[in-house]
Parts: sequence; C-alpha cells; structure tokens
Amino acid sequence: MADKLNIIWLQGQACTGCTISLTGGTHPSIVDVLTGFMPHIEGINLVYHSTLMLSWGEEATKVLKDAENGKYDPFVLVVEGSVPDEDNAKSSGGYFCGIGEIDGKMITLNDVLPTLAKRAGAVVAVGTCASFGGIPHGTPNPTGSKGVLEFLGKDYKSALGLPVINISGCPPHGEYMIEALGHLVLTARGVLPVPELDEHNRPKFLYGEKAHETCPRAGHYCEGDYSKEFGDAGCMGLLGCKGPISHCDVPRRGFVEGVGGCPTVGGICIGCTEPEFPDEPFGPFLRKAPASAYTSETIKDVVGKISAVLGRLSPRKI
Ligand code: SF4
Ligand code: SF4
Repeated sequence: MADKLNIIWLQGQACTGCTISLTGGTHPSIVDVLTGFMPHIEGINLVYHSTLMLSWGEEATKVLKDAENGKYDPFVLVVEGSVPDEDNAKSSGGYFCGIGEIDGKMITLNDVLPTLAKRAGAVVAVGTCASFGGIPHGTPNPTGSKGVLEFLGKDYKSALGLPVINISGCPPHGEYMIEALGHLVLTARGVLPVPELDEHNRPKFLYGEKAHETCPRAGHYCEGDYSKEFGDAGCMGLLGCKGPISHCDVPRRGFVEGVGGCPTVGGICIGCTEPEFPDEPFGPFLRKAPASAYTSETIKDVVGKISAVLGRLSPRKI
C-alpha cells in the first residue's frame, strides 16, 4: 500500500479548460481530495501543476527534473492537452509546446513526457486533447498533434503495468477526473481492481452509457417530438445533437452541483468525448450526423416506438 502518492500534472497543447472543470467538481471536490477529507484517498500531494502550484519559473521546472530522477516516486502522471510533433517545429527553428526553462534552455512537453511516463505508476490523459488529440488535432492539424497514448505507443505500460487511461471530454466533467484518479489511488493501495476500460481506454464506469441514454429529452425522441429551433422543449436531434453517438452521462449528472449538462439545458451534444471530435461525424456541430452513425440508435428507436404503441393498445392492469 502506497501511503503517500504524488501527482504531477503536465499541460501540453491545452486551453486549461480541464483544470477549470476539475475545480468545479464537488462530489468529491479536488479540495476534499488534497486536504485528506476522504480517509481512503488521503495522502495525495499535487507536486506539480503549472496553473495551480505556487512555485514558478525555474523553481517549478526543477520539480520535473527531480521527478525524472525519482524524488517524487510514487507518482501518477496526469497530462492535459495534446502532444505536438516538435520535429515539424524544429525544421523552422522553433518549438510548439514549451513548458518551462532551465538555465535559459526551453524544456518542451515532448522532452519530459517519455521519461516521466516511464517512472509513473499510472498515466492519465485528461480531456479529449490529451486522450485523442482533440481540438488541436482537428483538420488540418497544423502542429501534428496527437494524444498521449498515440505518442507513447499502444504497448506502453506504466510502472504499475497499466496502459494510458483516457478521461476524455472537452472538458471532461470535474468529477470524472477526480473519480478516475481516486479509483487509481485505491487500485495502487490494493483496495480496488484496475478499472475496466472500453476500446478507447476510458473507464467503463464513467463512459459506459451514451449521452442520449441519460438525456431528459429522450422521451421526446421516442415520441418523434423534435425541436425546430433552439429553445423548444423537444429532442434536438434535428438541430445536430450527437448524443446518440457520444459516451457520457453528463445530461443526467449535470455539470456543476447537478446543474447544466448540454442537452439538459438546451445545448446540443457535440460529441466532445469521442476520438474523432471535432471532425466528422461530430463536426460541423449543427449538422445532423450522417444516418450511418445513427443506425443502431435508429433501429432501437423504431423498435421502441412499435412497443410503445403496442403497450398503449393492451388493456391496463392496475
Ligand atoms: S436531445 Fe440529443 S441526447 Fe437528448 S434525446 Fe435528443 S438526440 Fe438524444
Ligand atoms: S453531452 Fe455531449 S457535448 Fe456534453 S459533455 Fe457529454 S459528450 Fe460532451
């Protein structure tokens, strides 16, 4: 059992939205975790996070160098943001993603990621950028951006023998990140087994359902009651909602303190948790997804409507 566990949180090609979302998680909150309010996951120390830490400049960058030399073992490496192809940048004499300087020399994300990943007990990619490339990876992908899993290689295993774990979303729900990290802490302490992952390395306990299955407008979908414009109360499938092909329970969970959640509050789902996001079939966001992407949902919908009609025809039993 690891009593103390450090977290090193790197930011690559990111907008810091995942960090903002992290601070919005409330059940539990990141403050609960870091102050040891939850006994089973106490002893967590956030030693490096370029937005939240107090150190700055070379003093902060030195933490990464010390981590490469084992000072912060055992640690979980969290990556927010995608990883660029620095060879592309070198050809024009620059770099895409500097994360700090030591002795006046720029350190890039690509410099530290392989060495830290080799030492880390687990590597967690938070957000769709770190998971699959996300927005920077969208066509035409000028920086050659990719997700951490693609950068480290599909055969990568952490010091605990785990693959890269993806917590996708743009941003992911704050509690998705905290629940996933909490689960890994309990795995490291021998309390829980390794979380079961889906085909995109996302924990099934978080990504096992589609937004459509958890949407409060799903009854309107089953009735064929579609919104014609934003603000209508119906299903927003014809306005471009990609809930039927996106894995996420945010419409039911809400975004902060149970409030919000894309289709719940009148915004379409844009498929922000999915590997292809923001490209086809999720973009253009306001265009209905191609029929092929919806095939299984369409079949379920037709079967559902037939059984609803048959249900109404049968005599009621009290
Ligand atoms: S609004 Fe979107 S997620 Fe909700 S029922 Fe309609 S298609 Fe599904
Ligand atoms: S409902 Fe859709 S757009 Fe909203 S968080 Fe979930 S996957 Fe992303």
